[in-house]
Amino acid sequence: MDPHGAAPFWRARGERYYRMGSFYQFVFGCRVWKVSVDAGFGCPNRDGTPGAGGCRFCNPASFSPSRRLAPASIGEQIRQGAQRLAARHGAERFLAYFQPGTNTHGPAERLRAAYEEALACPGIVGLVVGTRPDCVGDEVLDMLAELAGRTWVSIELGIQSSHDRSLEWLGRGHDHRASTDAVARTKRRGLHVGAHVILGLPSETIDDMTATADELSRMGIDSVKLHNLYVARDTRLAEDYAAGQVFLPSREEYVDYVVGFLEHLSVHCTIDRLSADAPPEYLVAPDWCRDKSGVRRAIERELERRDAWQGKSEE
Ligand code: SF4
Repeated sequence: MDPHGAAPFWRARGERYYRMGSFYQFVFGCRVWKVSVDAGFGCPNRDGTPGAGGCRFCNPASFSPSRRLAPASIGEQIRQGAQRLAARHGAERFLAYFQPGTNTHGPAERLRAAYEEALACPGIVGLVVGTRPDCVGDEVLDMLAELAGRTWVSIELGIQSSHDRSLEWLGRGHDHRASTDAVARTKRRGLHVGAHVILGLPSETIDDMTATADELSRMGIDSVKLHNLYVARDTRLAEDYAAGQVFLPSREEYVDYVVGFLEHLSVHCTIDRLSADAPPEYLVAPDWCRDKSGVRRAIERELERRDAWQGKSEE
């Protein structure tokens, strides 16, 4: 089975989109689980490198439990996370997911030490490194490519949208050109590239969202995490929302966006997430995103109803 072959095997299995779990099964020969790691890296969009206000939607504490707890070493975070997953699911193999903050934002020696500490932990079979498109210099990519010679490495980039006006509204501090440049340099080194994308941005129509899917396909993105626009407390977006300046899509509208997006996404791109939420104490709205499996089922029902599938527009 070739996960990147011409005929998508998942279609032959009657599935309508390419699940990340199927890809991991192919790569590792078993199910793998992500253990979130907080290495304490900051964010250039908060420390003044391109900006100081942070992204409009971002409350760093809402992204990961680690930002709400007393700091522990990387090894200890992995040990505790792996123990929880083993008790709950019988998990044995894990990816160390450097999640909160910008995990390539720091001196090379500190980055290497953090990645190596994670890789030395029992059960860890690879790294997933979350970062920004404007924060992947050649030096860190060379280091990650070197690590990829002996383990699995994926870079997750917060691309969010291919439209500069949306990136500006989000206060990202980078444009889409930064994303195309980062993806090209990352792929040139043979690294797996994931993209985070937000659907339901105020100035975007369904055609804008499908244009982002077309663009990610053209760029050769390997996996996508889809996020519905949601409001977390203590953010600029929360202020906009309270002032009635932002309208969030309903669940039905979001399902429509996701189905349209998937139809335009390459059959070779895996889907790592279909929707997102924040912990209950941080989530302001919408209420419907709390039920992630309900959203997933609604998307799958709509794909069935329309007889639609990922990449349909390519055929
Ligand atoms: S979303 Fe990411 S890049 Fe934006 S402010 Fe938060 S941590 Fe920084």
